[in-house]
Amino acid sequence: MNLATPLAELEWITPQRARPLERFGLVTVGDLLTHFPRRYEDRRQFDRFPADESDKPVCVCGTVTKVAVKQLGGWKKMVEVILEEEESHALTPSLTCRWFNMHFIQKMVASGQRLVVYGKPKLRAKKIVIDHPDFEIVENDADISIHLKRIAPIHAATEGVPPRLLRTLIYRTLEQIDDSQIENRLPPKLDSMPLATALRQIHFPDDSEMLESARRHLVLDEFFAMQMYVAAKRAETIARPGEAHCGTGVLLEKLHAALPFPLTGAQKRTIAEIREDLAAPHPMNRLLHGDVGSGKTIVALSAMLLAVEAGYQTALMAPTQILAEQHYLNFRRMLEPLGISIALRTGSRSDNTGPLPLFQTASDGNTQEKDSPQIIIGTHALLYDSVEFSRLGLVVIDEQHKFGVMQRARLIDQPVVPDVLVMTATPIPRTLTMTIYGDLDVSTLDEMPANRGKIVTAVRDEAKLPEVIKFIREQLEKGRQAYIVYPLIDESEKLEAKAATREFEKWRELLQPMRCELLHGRIDPAEKESIMERFRKGDSKALIATSVIEVGIDVPNANIMLIENAERFGLAQLHQLRGRIGRGEHKSYCILISSARNDEAIEKLKTLERTSDGFEIAEEDLKLRGPGDILGTAQSGLPPLKIGNLLSDGDLIKLARKAATAIFKADPHLQQPENQYFREKILQGGKLVLSQVS
Ligand code: ADP
Ligand code: MG
Repeated sequence: MNLATPLAELEWITPQRARPLERFGLVTVGDLLTHFPRRYEDRRQFDRFPADESDKPVCVCGTVTKVAVKQLGGWKKMVEVILEEEESHALTPSLTCRWFNMHFIQKMVASGQRLVVYGKPKLRAKKIVIDHPDFEIVENDADISIHLKRIAPIHAATEGVPPRLLRTLIYRTLEQIDDSQIENRLPPKLDSMPLATALRQIHFPDDSEMLESARRHLVLDEFFAMQMYVAAKRAETIARPGEAHCGTGVLLEKLHAALPFPLTGAQKRTIAEIREDLAAPHPMNRLLHGDVGSGKTIVALSAMLLAVEAGYQTALMAPTQILAEQHYLNFRRMLEPLGISIALRTGSRSDNTGPLPLFQTASDGNTQEKDSPQIIIGTHALLYDSVEFSRLGLVVIDEQHKFGVMQRARLIDQPVVPDVLVMTATPIPRTLTMTIYGDLDVSTLDEMPANRGKIVTAVRDEAKLPEVIKFIREQLEKGRQAYIVYPLIDESEKLEAKAATREFEKWRELLQPMRCELLHGRIDPAEKESIMERFRKGDSKALIATSVIEVGIDVPNANIMLIENAERFGLAQLHQLRGRIGRGEHKSYCILISSARNDEAIEKLKTLERTSDGFEIAEEDLKLRGPGDILGTAQSGLPPLKIGNLLSDGDLIKLARKAATAIFKADPHLQQPENQYFREKILQGGKLVLSQVS
């Protein structure tokens, strides 16, 4: 037996057993052994029966003395199981376990059985109860060595595959597999524990120290594999043939001289970094990373001008129509005096205009090819086959996190690899950047433009709305503008449109006679454009919107962001929304209205009152949402993590990355015997660099 052996081939696993396991994604011995516990119960010594409620869960073992079913209102039923502590000398109270609407519990549990129960004790009508505890029936004494008198693993389970079964299967498998069949993948320098030991100890630890060492090994194992892929991808990109795409910078100087503001130090630095990449013959792959409002657009335009000057076409892809239009209008204004041709290409345009003109071009014709614009701005529409680029030298992707990796790959799939600049305002902790964008070079705009108005953020209860409305009226009367946002995220677009429409009617009344407009996903694109245009010009004073305005919109005169039911948004999204204001000289106000009654939600919102540091907010957001798929390892194209935590295991990621980088440096084609395991893995993934040498 080794890690690749299918579970179905083990004679003690019947087909009836194997099927639900397979459905659960456990097909091989390796799958089973890397189905890591989600938590542990220290059953070497059970907790005493609790005498009071507590926030800390307890793990107790007791004997069932009574099982009862109680009828509640309607069809609702409650199963109640009463446990007495075993060998209890003191007069500990009994413990009541309750399950609501889970009648089957009644069939599973009987008087006289021993139960291990885990949960938070509460005091209800003078009784100590645990509602819906995790529980396990102790069936016979032979089981004890597996399930009791040890630190017991609790594995994530599913229908037909309960934790107890998983524990038994894993125990048996570990009993039968030979350590020599489990080969180490981690360089011994990184961690000296054998993988076999780590697998044994992660499921059935001798003590908490061993558990910790085992986890360290397995996390490193996982991150190291990931970093080997990332390093291979990076090596591949660097090895691809590219061209230099950099002009002399005369246009750039003209553009910068015409700006109404000086560039920040960070902007100058990142432009210089990009310029170096453009001038180099190998393809650029750079992430421009900067908080909302840090001024990424002008950096992107600078890069595009350098490429245009060298005779190349450049494209910018934005995630929404509104944003693409905004970039287009903005760029056109700046580029017209320089005689650069620019075109807009979005989905709706090709829909509306049919097969005829693909591009809307604004140019004085003073350029080489009239029909082929030097700069193309677009949405996903740029990915369609009908868009033909000519000499595409630089691709910029705005708000990269809104696109998938595949889309990026598709856009750069050109005869000669273009340089690529991806931009994101999602502040990503350093350790995440190393993983998700590990194949990219990173430039960070870590400085906000000066002369920004201050943003005051306030969390307010719904009851305060009348005062808030009065305040908004005053601001609008002073000439300012406002965004009013509704989080209709879960409903269908149709319902969303309807709800926003209703709110819009309300606000129109409230803010009379000032002009309000409604903006949501269902509005016709041409109409959207003119709504934005009127708002930009100041003709309309308030925009009642869904989160379509979340990304990128830039109207410096707007200084109010009112968000209703703010608790329904994630922190990062709220930060993005807030980034729409504070862009001009006026003091700005972000008002988060919430009707949430639970402290957690209010606490979450208060984070935004406390800080405007995007990095801090991102970390907080990641913590709140847990280690799941946030910025998506899914989106990164990397396999999901089974044990490592991108946030809390930052140090281990760094170690793994260092080791992987060193290996590629010393052995770029992975020819050394000790690198054969990864060489094969990476070749299976179809990475070019390695296949070229084979
Ligand atoms: P983001 O990084 O969120 O994409 P933008 O590029 O949209 O930010 O810039 C936000 C606003 O700041 C725009 O109105 C832009 O013109 C302005 N801006 C950019 N750079 C500077 C600067 N150095 N000084 C002052 N304002 C700037
Ligand atoms: Mg932007």
